[in-house]
Amino acid sequence: MGPHALMGSDAGAVKDVRIERSVVRRVLGFARPYRTMLIGFVVTLVLAALVSIATPLLIGRIIDDAIPNDDKGLVSVLAGLMLLAALAEALLALGERWWSSRIGEGLIYDLRAALYDHVQRMPLAFFTSTETGRLISRMNNDVIGAQRAMTGTLGSVISNVIVVATTFVALLVLEWRLALMALLLLPLFIVPAKRVGKVLQSITREGMDLNAGMNTTMTERLNVSGALLVKLYGQPGSESQRFNDQAGRVRDIGVRSAMYGRVFVIALTLVGAVGTASVYWIGARLVIDDSLAAGDLVAMGLLVARIYGPLTALTNARVDVMTALVSFERVFEVLDTPNTIVDRPGAKALENPRGAVAFDGVTFAYPSARDSSIPSLEGTAPAGHGHGAPHGHGGHGHGHGASAGNGASEPKTAPEPVATATVVLHDVSFSVPAGTMTALVGPSGSGKSTIASLIPRLYDATTGTISLDGHDVRDLTLTSLRGAVGVVSQDPHLFHESVGSNLRYARADATDDELEAAAKAAHIHDVIAALPDGYDTVVGERGYRLSGGEKQRLAIARMLLKDPALVILDEATSHLDSENEVLVQRALDAALVGRTTLVIAHRLSTITSADEILVLENGHIVERGRHDDLLASGNLYSELYTTLVRGSEVPG
Ligand code: ATP
Repeated sequence: MGPHALMGSDAGAVKDVRIERSVVRRVLGFARPYRTMLIGFVVTLVLAALVSIATPLLIGRIIDDAIPNDDKGLVSVLAGLMLLAALAEALLALGERWWSSRIGEGLIYDLRAALYDHVQRMPLAFFTSTETGRLISRMNNDVIGAQRAMTGTLGSVISNVIVVATTFVALLVLEWRLALMALLLLPLFIVPAKRVGKVLQSITREGMDLNAGMNTTMTERLNVSGALLVKLYGQPGSESQRFNDQAGRVRDIGVRSAMYGRVFVIALTLVGAVGTASVYWIGARLVIDDSLAAGDLVAMGLLVARIYGPLTALTNARVDVMTALVSFERVFEVLDTPNTIVDRPGAKALENPRGAVAFDGVTFAYPSARDSSIPSLEGTAPAGHGHGAPHGHGGHGHGHGASAGNGASEPKTAPEPVATATVVLHDVSFSVPAGTMTALVGPSGSGKSTIASLIPRLYDATTGTISLDGHDVRDLTLTSLRGAVGVVSQDPHLFHESVGSNLRYARADATDDELEAAAKAAHIHDVIAALPDGYDTVVGERGYRLSGGEKQRLAIARMLLKDPALVILDEATSHLDSENEVLVQRALDAALVGRTTLVIAHRLSTITSADEILVLENGHIVERGRHDDLLASGNLYSELYTTLVRGSEVPG
């Protein structure tokens, strides 16, 4: 039913999972748009159940009414009705599939769309603390699980109830003692069936886990970066061995699952046969004693065989429905993760941005992974702890990333250990007047990139305010804020799309001429023109691979198309060869004219031409001023400068 529902390794957990009413209510909320279709679906199921008991009853009539009376006309009528019943059953089966697939696929669509929309708006911290593979599996498998819950499990429960009820009524009417006797046989089967069912369920779940593990290995090793690492450091033999072990376990569990599944079906068939045999064994005596008509006996024999399957399924229905609902719960878990970086009510759109930035007493600590993700989606959380023990062991307590590693000192016994996040910026204040250039310099890890990421609200300051053109960034709409800021990072990302569409990502309506003008200004046009398909060449991780300098110039062109008031530039630390360096420099000279610029500077020429230099150390601004003054003071800046000058003298 819902094998995707639980990825947990702790078998049998389903029973312990109490599905709260609110979950059921929300599921019904998602089902509401499909109300009329659901009614159609149920009506079809009822009709199908009714039609399916018609055939055995018609056979009974042929034997009891038509044959003894030599009534050939009645035989034709009854046979014709049987044909009609078969036709109706076929049509209803089609109808049932039509409704269930419309409802199911519609629901998948709704859930997926809601999830994608929610997740893509989540703050950056969510993505840095979430394991992408798990997130994607949640967006795929659990959505499908939820769909199965809706049409598969729910559908079969409804249909089984109807089939059992109608068949049983028919049996009772035909001969109530026989009907009760047939029911007495049931416990013989149900007790062992429940056992097998449980084993089968835990096997299925274990299989899902093993499959997920195998998939993770594949996605991790078979992408470009992973493959590269394996080639340079790994051993193909042991890599294959590791994979084969995993695949081997998947194979073994597949065999076990197939065998248990078959045992289940065979047992069911056997009980059906025993039931039919007993009905004839006792029923035929009643016929001989003239207390039961032969046709009724045949009809009962046919009906009895059909009742065991649905009845057994119903005894497991509770577990099935709960398992299926767990998928919904897991989807809701993602949908409910609060988004902390959103437009404040009444947020204003920034008009005619000029790009003046001001930091006022800004202190910042990166949010802990626990605050920004879902324990079951964090890479460090053991698989399967999405439920039951979300705050179990291993899922938390890691101060995440904060290099000081303070997380280790957390008391393990505390019920809710609070990760004391490392403060990365301390009381930082500065301003970048419109149209000027400010350079951030400082040792690695001093907080330069962090400052840059606070302006477009990739994170929010813990205390203090950051403003753009005099407005607190939290008072502006995210769209207008991010529209006013153009970021060019050290290693810009390109989508696996053509150069043209990568550029147009900044402005979808840019004309070909504008594209070319931006590329020319960024000194990348000649490179693009020489590519196999020009602007249509596919780039990105798996496409044509541009060099670091080319990528950065492409990113500059993309920024130019966006035409932001404020440019945040992270200069490449790795030394570009001098030709590339000159080209990037030229591209920037053109790009930065008339814009406010905050640059994480690694190059002498940038630093010396900055209107103000901020020197950072351990999250504090320790010096500020112009190049000459700072150099004269002989503090940290002059040290950094000396290193830079020495570095730039060494080619490469
Ligand atoms: P570099 O020049 O090496 O890029 P930087 O000056 O830009 O360094 P930042 O990237 O701002 O430094 O990092 C400042 C501190 O914040 C570092 O100690 C870093 O480990 C920490 N840090 C950075 N990103 C995160 C994150 N996502 N979560 C937690 N801590 C982080």
